[in-house]
Amino acid sequence: MRLVLLGPPGSGKGTQAVRIAQHFKLPHISTGDILRDNVSRNTELGKKAKSFMDKGLLVPDELVVEMTKHRLAQKDSQKDWILDGFPRTVPQAEALDKFAPPEVVLNLFIESAELIKRSAGRRICAKCKAVYNIHSNPPKAEDVCDKCGADLMQRDDDKEDVVRHRIEVYEEQTRPLVKFYTQKGILRSAYSAGTIDQVFERILEALKHSP
Ligand code: AMP
Repeated sequence: MRLVLLGPPGSGKGTQAVRIAQHFKLPHISTGDILRDNVSRNTELGKKAKSFMDKGLLVPDELVVEMTKHRLAQKDSQKDWILDGFPRTVPQAEALDKFAPPEVVLNLFIESAELIKRSAGRRICAKCKAVYNIHSNPPKAEDVCDKCGADLMQRDDDKEDVVRHRIEVYEEQTRPLVKFYTQKGILRSAYSAGTIDQVFERILEALKHSP
């Protein structure tokens, strides 16, 4: 299966992508993770991407398209994958159609008031990158990772004003992809309020009717 996951910031996209990848044994490719890794290693790409990411803006299409094309050409992902965070604009979707057309696109949707609460509550482990949420999936001890014991932190782009901006950017630049993929007949949708398990059940149900 070649699956694209769409959803606004705070829709639980990253968490569900990990679950879907485990369930169907697909490589999970998150463009946000690849970009953050480049920022932390201070690569040329990381230096160019950082200022956009810190402001909650999208990194320019040509950089992200090249990066994703390169990643999808690697051995583990030539056949099946789940793409989390790409495409985010119509030009990115058009580019993807040329080098690796998706078979199914899953759209996670939720009320916008929930989005801000969820993003602002997200914490990630500085070391193993495990993801928590102080409202729906808290760690056992405050600000300490259950898995590896390292400190939890908040991503700069999860601060409330940045989250609001990221949601606006989503509405303007990424929402048009819902229409783009509906017209191609490959869009499926799942409501993403509720617990991680409930949302995952809805996703499995939505994917049952996919190609
Ligand atoms: P994410 O972890 O998917 O929320 O991505 C974090 C940030 O990385 C986004 O706010 C963007 O600045 C950048 N980013 C990730 N994927 C893309 C993409 N496909 N196009 C442009 N920017 C992206």
